[in-house]
Amino acid sequence: MSQYDFDLFVIGGGSGGVRAGRIAASHGARVAVAEEYRYGGTCVIRGCVPKKLLVYGSEFSHAFKDAAGFGWSVGESRFDWTAMIAAKDKEIGRLEKIYRGLFENAGAKTFDGRATLKDAHTVLINDKPVTAGTILIATGGHPVKPSIPGAELMITSNEAFHLKEMPKRIIVIGGGYIACEFAGIFNGFGAKVTQLYRGEQILRGFDHDVRSHLAGELVKSGIDLKLKTDVTRIEKVAGGLLAHLTDGSSMEVDAVMAATGRKPNTDGLGLEAVGVETDADGAVVVDEYSRSSVENIYAVGDVTNRINLTPVAIREGHAFADTVFGNKPRKADHNDVPAAVFSQPSVGTVGLSEEDARKAYGEVDIYRTIFRPMKATLSGRDERILMKLVVDAKTDRVVGAHMVGHEAGEIIQGIAIAIKAKATKADFDATVGIHPTAAEEFVTLREKGKA
Ligand code: NDP
Repeated sequence: MSQYDFDLFVIGGGSGGVRAGRIAASHGARVAVAEEYRYGGTCVIRGCVPKKLLVYGSEFSHAFKDAAGFGWSVGESRFDWTAMIAAKDKEIGRLEKIYRGLFENAGAKTFDGRATLKDAHTVLINDKPVTAGTILIATGGHPVKPSIPGAELMITSNEAFHLKEMPKRIIVIGGGYIACEFAGIFNGFGAKVTQLYRGEQILRGFDHDVRSHLAGELVKSGIDLKLKTDVTRIEKVAGGLLAHLTDGSSMEVDAVMAATGRKPNTDGLGLEAVGVETDADGAVVVDEYSRSSVENIYAVGDVTNRINLTPVAIREGHAFADTVFGNKPRKADHNDVPAAVFSQPSVGTVGLSEEDARKAYGEVDIYRTIFRPMKATLSGRDERILMKLVVDAKTDRVVGAHMVGHEAGEIIQGIAIAIKAKATKADFDATVGIHPTAAEEFVTLREKGKA
């Protein structure tokens, strides 16, 4: 019998923590988890899942407009924010129970409360000590706001999911995933949306064609995208909020949403006292096996600020559990991780951008197409899809695939398998297209550098 209460104590019941706990239990470990809020973590409670439900909800407005070109007379449509939020909350409640159940069915003990570290083998939950051989920090992250006067008047994605009323006029600050996604959500629901980005172009780090193409499509969809513009100060006024912008203008709106990045949840966990090293952003510093600077303390997911995506956290948690409790040491693979931005239209991407591929491989071949989707011929929607392949000229290997357009995430998921399998451009060419689809363009791109 071990000298500790548990073999593994997981702090945080999100995607990474739940997977790690379940797998460790399946390897025979005695597992406990502490969650201070709701099981499921950012993804299930206030991230990917509720966001995607809102995206689905907001896309109907486009469908109603498109229907006319196909012979439909769509009557007056009205949107009820309260009903949408209630339906979303019901689904999140259902998923939360499933997440908690996953732990309990695996035989793990759940503690509802905040856990902090007392020493390398002891956590305190509501001042009660519990000991464990191994501790896993899976506490995720939280949104951060810019520090400007009136910042307390801003909302973040956390609050956006629970607003009593839908803002009719909103400023969304940021050019990353969350800003592009929420600008699309509120725009689809009929709000007047202004998206402000401080830099030259949104989605820094993505392929340059993706960035400019998405920006153009967002503007066409009705979002007022202002680049090289930021908010300097916000004040309350009779009609709502008055936001002062860097260009000297000001705008009255009902809400200002900061989508300006996220930070790891490490404050007040007791890491410093125990000797767990964190970086300048507060992220737990870990090795490839997710082990921290303290031998028996590990960390996975957003708290480590590696690739902040749910499926990555899950894989980190799984690899950790196999390594430490399954006698199968293995690292989570952080290469060629596909991702999607659920903007409207969406972005799907895997592998390297053209710029990164040039740095990595020198000579690259670019295959690119911009076309009008078939549905837009009758709907009349002014919409263009971008697809792009980046190929290492020396080996013919496809090292990057990018798309801006409807269901880009669904399409790129399949392409990601080919890229992971190191497919060449010749393999893409040898693949027969499915006609008529947008996706078939990925296997019919023949001319280098042609738009
Ligand atoms: P991102 O890091 O993606 O984007 C933050 C944006 O805010 C950037 O455009 C950044 O500009 C800007 N910004 C940062 N600080 C300020 C400031 N002080 N004033 C004005 N603008 C500022 O963060 P998100 O919050 O959008 O998302 C966090 C992470 O969560 C993502 O990177 C992703 O890993 C994950 N995520 C994934 C999703 C998905 O898979 N679909 C969905 C949502 C989140 P600059 O570029 O100049 O730094």
